Amino acid sequence: MTRRAHQTATVRAGIGSDAHHGAVIPPLHLSTTFEFPDLDEKPPYDYSRSGNPTRGHLADALARLEGGAGAAVTSSGMSAVALALQLLKTGDRVVAPHDCYGGTHRLLQALHARGSLSVQHRDLTRLDGLEANAFDGVGMVWIETPSNPLLRITDVVARCQRAKEAGAFVVVDNTFLSPVLQRPIELGADLVVHSTTKYLNGHSDVVGGAVISATEELAQEIDWWANCTGVSGSPFDSYLTLRGLRTLHTRIRAHEQNTAAVVDVLSQHAAVRHVYYPGLPSHPGHELAARQQDGFGAMVSAELAGGEAEVRRFVHALRHFSLAESLGGVESLVCHPATMTHASMPAEARAVAGIADSLVRFSIGIEDGADLAADLRAALDTTIHTLTLSRPADVGAEVHHV
Ligand code: PLP
Repeated sequence: MTRRAHQTATVRAGIGSDAHHGAVIPPLHLSTTFEFPDLDEKPPYDYSRSGNPTRGHLADALARLEGGAGAAVTSSGMSAVALALQLLKTGDRVVAPHDCYGGTHRLLQALHARGSLSVQHRDLTRLDGLEANAFDGVGMVWIETPSNPLLRITDVVARCQRAKEAGAFVVVDNTFLSPVLQRPIELGADLVVHSTTKYLNGHSDVVGGAVISATEELAQEIDWWANCTGVSGSPFDSYLTLRGLRTLHTRIRAHEQNTAAVVDVLSQHAAVRHVYYPGLPSHPGHELAARQQDGFGAMVSAELAGGEAEVRRFVHALRHFSLAESLGGVESLVCHPATMTHASMPAEARAVAGIADSLVRFSIGIEDGADLAADLRAALDTTIHTLTLSRPADVGAEVHHV
């Protein structure tokens, strides 16, 4: 699908589908149960856990936008992650990135600890660190690209090739980019997982998720498990998410435009040691991101000069960024992964993943870009001022941008 067709399909998802009243926007069906015409005549919808028209519109839209055969809409991103793992059998091997989302890391570790799965965390961004037989005997390869919070880029085509040779499923968590900027099924993935809580809904008022399958067969299996385990999303959440989805393309454009302004400030400020943004030509994954993505997204991380005290001062000095977890909403957020999103990861695992205590992560919203840039500059100025007073040697000691 061309970008234009993709945008039009996003806006018009489900429009014109109400044969009963001709409502332009598909109505919200809250009913938990649906009438059978007769004893042996099962209607298209019978019970809302198994299927619901409102949730169905969202599922159809997500499947179409990701280029999949079908989608299951779930109650959260984590239930989508758990649903994808249902494809595995007890004892199956899973290879996952060492810096995957903290909640995914926690779930995989818990399943590993009780012997349900055998989980290996690897740096999937580096093919040279993965021996040729790295995926032999593996049931599933889990990919998050760009990764959270360091925005590392994994070559989906290359990993899919090797995983296919080994007979492993490939799941890509596409939460950070949305199908506007990356479509992993086109790159060879079997399943795409989303926390729709983020860009797809985009307004920070719904927790939801989705699993999109590349094939009809996988879609049916995933649907079966969604109904069986009861992780299906609610109709009301689906309604809101479909409403949010209509502006996805427009929001992503605004997010990206503001991110360019923010990255400019971060890259030039002496209170910043390190900027992590795949749009920077110096980023190790820049060329790959340019090839595999349709844009660089609106998530940026930065290591500040100093330590936790400076991070604290910085986040409190910001006026237009809320100190909060999550991402992908219209409002700008800042978070401290070590004590917030990745606190459930043991300190050693964070160290291996390269998540420093002085790292902050930004989700750039769609406020006025100049306002965001000015706010950021002022807060960084405060940090550098106090650093200069207390520890002059630390300031700008190692300003390089990755
Ligand atoms: N995957 C990624 C990349 C995430 O960032 C998150 C949440 O932050 C999740 C999955 C889990 O989603 P949820 O919070 O909707 O359960």
